[in-house]
Amino acid sequence: MGQREYEVIIGMEVHAQLLTRSKMFCGCSADYVDAPPNTHVCPVCMALPGALPVINRAAVEATIRVGLALNCEIAPFSVFARKNYFYPDLPKGYQISQYELPLTYNGWVEIEGNDGQPKRVRIRRAHLEEDTGKLVHVNGYSLVDLNRAGVPLLEIVSEADMRSAEEAHRYLLKLRTILRYLGVSTADMEKGAMRCEANLSVRPRGQQTLGTKVEIKNLNSFKAVRDAITYEVKRQIAILEQGGTVEQVTLGWDEHAGRTFVQRTKEEAHDYRYFPEPDLLPLEISREWVESLRATLPELPDAKIQRFMQTYGLSRKEADIIAVEREVAEWYETAVAAYPHPREVYHWLTGEIFRYLNEANIPITAMKVTPDALAELLRLVEDGTINRNTAKSVLQEMLATGQRPRTIVDAKGLAQVSDEAALRAVVDEIIAAHPDEVRRYREGKKGLFGWFMGQVMRATRGKANPATVKKLLSERLEGDG
Ligand SMILES: [Zn+2]
Repeated sequence: MGQREYEVIIGMEVHAQLLTRSKMFCGCSADYVDAPPNTHVCPVCMALPGALPVINRAAVEATIRVGLALNCEIAPFSVFARKNYFYPDLPKGYQISQYELPLTYNGWVEIEGNDGQPKRVRIRRAHLEEDTGKLVHVNGYSLVDLNRAGVPLLEIVSEADMRSAEEAHRYLLKLRTILRYLGVSTADMEKGAMRCEANLSVRPRGQQTLGTKVEIKNLNSFKAVRDAITYEVKRQIAILEQGGTVEQVTLGWDEHAGRTFVQRTKEEAHDYRYFPEPDLLPLEISREWVESLRATLPELPDAKIQRFMQTYGLSRKEADIIAVEREVAEWYETAVAAYPHPREVYHWLTGEIFRYLNEANIPITAMKVTPDALAELLRLVEDGTINRNTAKSVLQEMLATGQRPRTIVDAKGLAQVSDEAALRAVVDEIIAAHPDEVRRYREGKKGLFGWFMGQVMRATRGKANPATVKKLLSERLEGDG
């Protein structure tokens, strides 16, 4: 009996730190990453008795802007709640979060589905809470650092609308792109500014009831998300194939071993005993406030992709590649404005330049080549000053030194030779020196044409205008002489 077909059902919970100056409920700086332990703390975020929280307006505004970008409704009335549990990095014994009345809810984002078509993933809610402190384990001791305690944290909960590890990966990438476009979070998973959990179940295709759901926690990279989901789907299918049942558990992901492991079982599940935070008033959000924040939204990725397709004639995939990072999109548009051949600019940006950025592991903002300099380089190709191969090496030089293309071409004498008389002399020399190849060519071995091209290019150190060489070679080889 062959294996049945299975359907995977995935929902995601994403936490993103917000880029506010101060923490969620106190005036401490939220820029804690490089600070010595416990230097960004005060009675509020250390939970000293009697200290009272105050809501950070900038964090509320960032959350509303995210809600709008995720097509959510914005609650006119929203409440903070205490989520009670004990852990040494949580000095209050509870986390201030939102439960019954989140700030934003009922939205969606569009991703590319498994079938290659656009697909909506529904957003159940995006609410505001505070981050916890951090434990540092040294020599058998556990030390607590409360610098991170109280940093504003946005929690975005999706519906279980994803059907593969790839869809989950694309969803996460889309969220990161949106958060970065809005400038509300670095959304840097590797640095812990964005963290992710997946809930997942598997069922035989066609079955109506859902399979048993497991949660996978602490997915700290895009790779971890894809690998953990792929692993877990295989594991669950293997259990079901053997007639077993999947246990409802919370799992961790062991990146080194490449497998999930049980963190806790259903019996150990927390009861958080949520109740409204008595130290904070409910948030009342006026429609005017929401509309004034809507006016601050930048052009969002989906709109930009549409515009790039229409304005520049790019395919959806190409537009998507450019629009993933706002800075890349801006660079591209500036370059196209300076050299209005969108496809040519796309080709050079996503080819040579992306390869360089990947190898150097730097963002486009740290690159030495300006859009204007690339435009100048492409004009040198267009007017025949240099050929495309020379342009590639000039671009490498530009990337390394930041010099203008014209400067490099002049300094190195790279301008190509288009002068027919000069090139004819070279062609004649090559033909005179290789009578055997000429004879074989004329007897029908037409593949030798490329070899002759190579000889001329080598003799001119790559500077010959290929079109001129091609024309001259054809004349001489096809002719009688
Ligand atoms: Zn504080």
